[in-house]
Amino acid sequence: MRTYRQANWSEPLIFELGSPGRLGITLPELEDEVKKVVGGVKIPESIKRVKPPSLPELSEVEVTRHFTNLTQMAYGVDNGPVPLGSCTMKFNPRIAWDLSFNSGVDQLHPLQDERTVQGLLEVMYELQQWLANIVGMDVCTLHPAAGAHGELTGVLVIRKYHELKGQLDRKKEIVIPDSAHGTNPASAAMAGFKVIEVPSGSDGNVDYEALKSVVGESTAGLMITNPNTLGLFEERILEIAELLHKYDALLYYDGANLNGIMGYTRPGDMGFDIAHINIHKTFSSPHGGGGPGSGPVCVKNRFVDREKGIYLSDLLPGYIVVYDEEKGIYRLKGPGPHSIGLLKSFFANTIPLLWAYVYIAIMGPQGLRKVTEHCVLITNYFAKLMNGVRGYDIPYGKGRFRKHEVVLSAKPMADEVGVTAEDVAKGLLDAGFYAPTIYFPLIVKEALMTEFTETETPENVERYVERLKEISKIAYENPSKPKEWPVNTSVGRLDIVKANHPKYVAPTWRVYMKRLKGELK
Ligand SMILES: *Cc1c(COP(=O)(O)O)cnc(C)c1O
Repeated sequence: MRTYRQANWSEPLIFELGSPGRLGITLPELEDEVKKVVGGVKIPESIKRVKPPSLPELSEVEVTRHFTNLTQMAYGVDNGPVPLGSCTMKFNPRIAWDLSFNSGVDQLHPLQDERTVQGLLEVMYELQQWLANIVGMDVCTLHPAAGAHGELTGVLVIRKYHELKGQLDRKKEIVIPDSAHGTNPASAAMAGFKVIEVPSGSDGNVDYEALKSVVGESTAGLMITNPNTLGLFEERILEIAELLHKYDALLYYDGANLNGIMGYTRPGDMGFDIAHINIHKTFSSPHGGGGPGSGPVCVKNRFVDREKGIYLSDLLPGYIVVYDEEKGIYRLKGPGPHSIGLLKSFFANTIPLLWAYVYIAIMGPQGLRKVTEHCVLITNYFAKLMNGVRGYDIPYGKGRFRKHEVVLSAKPMADEVGVTAEDVAKGLLDAGFYAPTIYFPLIVKEALMTEFTETETPENVERYVERLKEISKIAYENPSKPKEWPVNTSVGRLDIVKANHPKYVAPTWRVYMKRLKGELK
């Protein structure tokens, strides 16, 4: 094994560094011509600040060292594997970075005249079409800012669909499997629906009989991801679609797991009506703290009202890029009379979309198929290596091949020696790996939801497995040892409740100071 010890700087907060009056950079004096213009701008008294913002004052080298030190105490996909199941943390190719950030897009203003941003609109137009093609839908909007935001968009579209058909008074329920991501029921509830949960069978798929018993006249739609969060393909998806459509309920595809099927099958072909795409998962670009994300939503060309000529796509939120044949220009189409409106200001989170554009362009259709092949292969290789390792289990769908991810369980170890999934995760951190997603999906006890993505090497997967075996060996020999982990990281074991609790977290300097002074309860 390679040894690992993370940097540990006792780095102060940036507000505790520097000194009043210290400058980062000194700008040259404005030229006279510029001065004339700038000097002529009068800022109204009403919007002038009474006092300058209290920002830290540091030299350039202090700022650089501060952030470099912090990055050395962090871990990301540029350091090693980050197999966070469902998050699809693939390596982000630098060429996409270069092309997105050096495109000049960051210099544009969202209110700029369309005629001056034709290049960007053309790229977005093409991306809309590529994405529609990948998921087998007809029209996409790039508007939503993340997967969960796409979900909310999707369920609001479902709501509007039933409203326009005059049946919203009875279409009150959205059906969601128990293996779903928490954002699914949250989105459905936010849109005013009642959430009906259906259980999974021992094969890891939705229990079809249970589903049949809850779907009926009051069903507005179904939200499901395929492959599901257990990494298993929903084999009865065509029957499910038929069942839902029989009651005029719509099928919503949670696209977070698209990495497991891309280029092989499409939600549109499985009978789905609406799909979101997590750009920051399947199509690379950093996410989490490195965001922003993007969650385009695509729909089928399905009629809402045949007589009035209203399509499902008319319900999408603005803006959508369209091509004006007559004038030969691209235009931003704002929300029309049947649209659910705007879910955020302006067009979309452009940088991750450009990133995705470059990623798809580099890969091409064959490349995207290869992505799926590699990620499925590496997942099943991992599952195979973990098969029979003491202390771990792979519940649900025993013996089935997985798609993009596999959910291990540390339940045997927890039951036998009290070493939990959390302890295993800390043991991984201690060896210079990132932990998988733990305790999700909720239906798996002591879950270790592992997804390496296509960009991980087999050697790293083997090293990961070696460490998981070593953790198990230590756990059975000396069960108190894992409770001390991690010791090689910059920060030791945190209280996981406090670390996530709004009462203790200080996301900004202002909150931190208020907490110090006891001004926040
Ligand atoms: C990540 C994820 C979401 C939510 O997407 P965000 O972009 O994080 O908002 C929804 N469903 C599943 C299955 C996911 O993995």
